[in-house]
Amino acid sequence: MHPYTLLAPAKINLYLEIIGDRPDGYHELVMILQSIDLADRLEIRPNGTQAFRLTCSHPQVPTDETNLAYRAAQLMKQEFREAFANYGGVDIILDKRIPIAAGLAGGSTDGAAVLVGLNLIWQLGLTIPELQRLGEQLGSDVPFCIAGGTAIATRRGEKLDPIQDLDNLWLVLGKYHSLAVSTPWAYKTYRQQFGHEYVNDHSEIESKTSNINSGPLVQAIGQKDNQKIGQLLSNDLEKVVLPEYPQVAQLRDILQQAGGLGTMMSGSGPTVFTLCQSQEEAQNIKNQVRQTIVDPDLELWVSKLSNTGIQII
Ligand code: ATP
Repeated sequence: MHPYTLLAPAKINLYLEIIGDRPDGYHELVMILQSIDLADRLEIRPNGTQAFRLTCSHPQVPTDETNLAYRAAQLMKQEFREAFANYGGVDIILDKRIPIAAGLAGGSTDGAAVLVGLNLIWQLGLTIPELQRLGEQLGSDVPFCIAGGTAIATRRGEKLDPIQDLDNLWLVLGKYHSLAVSTPWAYKTYRQQFGHEYVNDHSEIESKTSNINSGPLVQAIGQKDNQKIGQLLSNDLEKVVLPEYPQVAQLRDILQQAGGLGTMMSGSGPTVFTLCQSQEEAQNIKNQVRQTIVDPDLELWVSKLSNTGIQII
């Protein structure tokens, strides 16, 4: 039994459409998810005890049972009692590089990494689809984070259809360090404001969901038409987050004016990104935005789209 180090990439939403309510209280969604190479790093070490111990480099990330990495370990223990009895607990050392509560699935990807890591350490031999089914119990973004790449995600986001990879584009990400948006708040507010537009009929939900496959953005991705991809980025949650957070709306405008293929908020925000053709273009846009917004609270990253989920290094 040896330790493993894993990279857990963040995701962005190229597309997020809210279709309606679900009987379980969640929303019916149609999304296009994309991995990026901004990633947390997790070291998972067998510790010879009957406990899981989590430490994190970021002071604001909880290290108790509310952390998704910890919850993933508990889930594995519950599902594979014999393996836990044989191999024991692990120390999880989380080097947090993905900003928190940022709409980048930072917690979900850590949970995904622990599922992958314990599968190796406990020699369970689970396949990716089997790990993804376990991941659904932790959160709707976890199954995507396991396999990564580019995928259509429907239902709560857990039903995945991988599509043509988009791995040669770059992006600039911007987020105010001290600003966090609660995902439950964003969906609740959306329901209050736009719930009257929801589709309730099951067959209409099915047809809206399947339309995405033949829709213009999926076509543009298939054709690698980068200009079109940039123009077709879309996120329904912008309708509630941008009016509530004018700072995010302003950052979005400034990023958009600085160039690139297209600008959009990721997930429930507040991270905003601009897709770019090259690293040089992304770096130029980052520099321009840095000059326009002179605020030390603003964090900017240049990153690349990635075609992988959890990686063992
Ligand atoms: P999503 O895009 O899936 O909505 P997010 O990127 O907006 O997620 P996270 O970074 O996952 O949000 O964090 C949301 C909250 O979850 C944090 O405020 C934190 O308290 C809690 N949390 C639990 N586990 C983690 C983790 N491993 N990393 C970061 N936050 C975590």
